Amino acid sequence: MCHLSFIRPLSFGLALLFLFCLSGCGPATPSGEPEETYLYAPELSEAELAAITSENLLLANKQHPVDASYSPSLIELPEDAIIHHDSIQMEGTAALALLAMLKGMRADGIRDTYVTSGYRSYAYQEQLFNYYISQEKQNNPSLTDAQAEAIVLTYSAKPGTSEHQTGLCADFMTETMSELDNSFERSRAFEWLSENAAKYGFILRYPNGREDVTGYAYESWHYRFVGRKAAIAIRKAGLTLEEYLESAG
Ligand SMILES: [Zn+2]
Repeated sequence: MCHLSFIRPLSFGLALLFLFCLSGCGPATPSGEPEETYLYAPELSEAELAAITSENLLLANKQHPVDASYSPSLIELPEDAIIHHDSIQMEGTAALALLAMLKGMRADGIRDTYVTSGYRSYAYQEQLFNYYISQEKQNNPSLTDAQAEAIVLTYSAKPGTSEHQTGLCADFMTETMSELDNSFERSRAFEWLSENAAKYGFILRYPNGREDVTGYAYESWHYRFVGRKAAIAIRKAGLTLEEYLESAG
């Protein structure tokens, strides 16, 4: 008798599961993957969703510099999104997706994290690069210009090769951090971004241990807008932007 009392709840459970699947399981795409649907908190506007689902795969790295004259259409980030600067701009669509992402982060209770760098012009990157070289030489006066430049190249981009020149990326910082470094990895924001950035169209651009492909050391704070479809594919497969572009032909 006891086997019947076991089977009945089991078959009832299976029937429930079947009914749930009839009502709750979404249609499958031709590739067999379930259709990607996301809950955004708070709900996003049509313009925000359009920004997140648009695509921008522009590549800027040491092998593919952007032209000195390249200048994206920029918008100013609102004051409550930024820290340590009076003004930070980003490319318009990426900015809208980023602000939606910040809203999501705030809605999940993370209010100590801000953008500390967005678009940088060629001239600014040049100034920054030269400043780093002078710092390296000050720290070690025996370095030649070329040696100092080689060191700086391991953590900063030569003018034209910085992704910040595209306006498509942002550096994040918490208010307790005094400088931009990988202590960001221990923040709640980093944990949140690891989980959620892709659904807002952003990727961790310089992952740990991928210096050989990206040309840059690990930067836990640097996020790049590519659009939701590419961001999710990149995250799922554990790729870099370079590898994704390569695989997409
Ligand atoms: Zn950056």
